Amino acid sequence: MLDEAEKYLTPYIWGNYTVLVLPPSFPYGGMENPLLTFASPTIIVGDKSQVYVATHEICHSWTGNDVTCQNWENMWLNEGFTVFEERKVSGKLHGANFAKVEALLGNQSLWSDMSNYGLNNSYSSLHPNLDGHTPDDSFSIVPYDKGFQFLVYLESLMGENTFQDFLRTYILKYSRDSVRYEDLKKTWEDYVVANTTNAT
Ligand SMILES: [Zn+2]
Repeated sequence: MLDEAEKYLTPYIWGNYTVLVLPPSFPYGGMENPLLTFASPTIIVGDKSQVYVATHEICHSWTGNDVTCQNWENMWLNEGFTVFEERKVSGKLHGANFAKVEALLGNQSLWSDMSNYGLNNSYSSLHPNLDGHTPDDSFSIVPYDKGFQFLVYLESLMGENTFQDFLRTYILKYSRDSVRYEDLKKTWEDYVVANTTNAT
């Protein structure tokens, strides 16, 4: 999984990758940290059906641990990118249809969470207005799957290979730095202008 993530993205910068299985009281399926992932024992279910959690946490080595969101209003820069990368790796390892089913299931959960918040609630958007509230209130599948879908949309405008190159450019530019969506937007615009100029 790490090899496939490296092939799609850029070289892994954190040395050894380790998964530390925590006691059942650990409240998340997985949690990314540089060098190692914390994992719940509940993801080890015998049929490997929860392996995507490890894929997800591995991909956080690039987006989340290397390029990091500057605040929780920009959480999708961690989670949306990581889901996008995770599904690229899953698609390589388990086939494109596997990744499509994950995207379909993610879309259903996304719709459910957005419906619960209300479609016009900022928590249903990629840039929730936390407005003094605890960020915990806004944590849902929205930054994960809406972020994923937005990146799929951008990819559809550029083509897979160009988008992969853009992604690498973005990661190398902001390596060991923290970002807001304005940084992504500027990098995207600069990249498009530079590549359009090159093409003419
Ligand atoms: Zn994540």
